[in-house]
Amino acid sequence: MFADRAKIYVRSGKGGDGHVSFRREKYVPNGGPDGGDGGHGGDVIFEVDEGLNTLIDFRHIRKYKAEDGQEGGKRNCRGKNGNDIVIKVPEGTVIKEAESGQVITDMSGENKRVVLLKGGRGGNGNQHYATSTMQAPKYAQPGQPAIELELMLELKVIADVGLVGFPNVGKSTFLSRVTNAKPKIANYHFTTLNPNLGVVDLEGTKGFVIADIPGLIEGASEGVGLGHEFLRHIERTKVIIHIVDAAGTEGRDPIEDIYAINKELEAYNPDIAKRPQVIAANKIDAMYTEEGEESAIDAIKKEFEPKGIAVYPISAVSGEGLKELLYHVNEMLESIGEELILFEQEYFPERKTGYSNEPYTVIYDEEEDEYVVEGPRIEKMLGYTNLESEKGFAFFQNFLKDTGILDELEALGIQEGDTVRMYGLSFDYYK
Ligand code: GDP
Ligand code: MG
Repeated sequence: MFADRAKIYVRSGKGGDGHVSFRREKYVPNGGPDGGDGGHGGDVIFEVDEGLNTLIDFRHIRKYKAEDGQEGGKRNCRGKNGNDIVIKVPEGTVIKEAESGQVITDMSGENKRVVLLKGGRGGNGNQHYATSTMQAPKYAQPGQPAIELELMLELKVIADVGLVGFPNVGKSTFLSRVTNAKPKIANYHFTTLNPNLGVVDLEGTKGFVIADIPGLIEGASEGVGLGHEFLRHIERTKVIIHIVDAAGTEGRDPIEDIYAINKELEAYNPDIAKRPQVIAANKIDAMYTEEGEESAIDAIKKEFEPKGIAVYPISAVSGEGLKELLYHVNEMLESIGEELILFEQEYFPERKTGYSNEPYTVIYDEEEDEYVVEGPRIEKMLGYTNLESEKGFAFFQNFLKDTGILDELEALGIQEGDTVRMYGLSFDYYK
């Protein structure tokens, strides 16, 4: 069975606790503190595996945990870091937070490897807490907690062109005729239950990828039919080929069908309904028109060409009209350009680390002429954030804004170019 959606649970590794111990040596009665640091917890990492094309594996294994960091030991022994867990997904998988449905990351294009959850940082051993007044600290820092998340993985195939249309209009036949794909073709409804992809090799062009979006029927966007399960695969396609049975072999009215399908697209996602479309009026080999009657092709053209939608009469069986249609689609794609349709990040797992209620302070240190931001909330946030990555830094900046720290600095009279200090990090302040 094809699977393009899966709900899973992931958990990063907890940081190992720092250790409290004291040196014991001969002739040294009161040795100094020598408690080692805890190891870091493992990360939860997602990687694209080119060999995968479904999410079927996630039906069997739903829990993915990185390893915890080990506790620090005596004699400054650092705890072992926990192993990361690497989860392989097909290209095009969009990772969402399950409850809100907000996007965390889109495993497409350049995005082939993502650290979704960073493991907790190991705690400092007591060796770090010796001061001139406290030479035998009995305190060591606990490791940072693990982060848990429920995720919804959704595969949204990467294709330039989506094929839509009622069942039996000839989508699969078309795909098998113009691409290398070998879809199932049959004269009964709902045969195709997975999106088929095919590459069109068109002389003198770069070629493009077509996806057959199966089972789109009335009511699909409300979840009535099977179709809505598959509409997600159309979300990245730049051009839509709308196939209709112009011969009306099942007694359908092609014009009504086009409107009905477009209504489904609109209801599912208005953006998709706005994407450029072309109508492929199929089965012209089986069409006949009575003397003096308007042909179905003319009727479709009369209805849709004034709306700027081109109509191409084709026969997926005989091959008539296919070249013209494909070259037209190629031109549409060229005018749109290369860029991939990607899903933007809406949910930031770092914010779920449970530090959002902890206190912090913002003060001006006159002696150093520096602004100082500190407290558990800041310390924890920094521990979870990789400031060296672009995303991490953007998160950090948002954090300063969202928590109101920037406002507080302003209220204290900070000027551009002044220094802000946070746990050993110094920043120049710029708006
Ligand atoms: P899908 O449900 O849209 O994928 O439709 P299929 O490709 O499975 O085709 C449904 C039926 O229509 C099959 O029996 C095909 O042989 C037939 N068919 C598809 N294209 C044409 C065509 O151009 N001419 C004729 N006469 N029959 C066609
Ligand atoms: Mg089909």
